[in-house]
Amino acid sequence: MVKIDDYWHKDEFNIHIKDPDMLVKPGSRIVDREGTTYGITTGDWHSCRMEGCNGLRLTVKWQDGKTTFPCSAGLKKIGPNIWKII
Ligand SMILES: [Zn+2]
Repeated sequence: MVKIDDYWHKDEFNIHIKDPDMLVKPGSRIVDREGTTYGITTGDWHSCRMEGCNGLRLTVKWQDGKTTFPCSAGLKKIGPNIWKII
């Protein structure tokens, strides 16, 4: 489970990266939970509002044209710029 404190923190305007390898960059591939399809991060994000969660909700555009906002705390890195929803 990736927590925001592991790799970045944000202020009003910027994201500061502690470990660049853990950054979910714009254009990263996000594989769905079943591993059957993937979406691409747009670079937009907002703070996760789940109680006790300090992740970021990343804007992801999927193959079918839908947009979702998976939480970075629920992603696992599986390759260069490839993350999977766990
Ligand atoms: Zn969250």
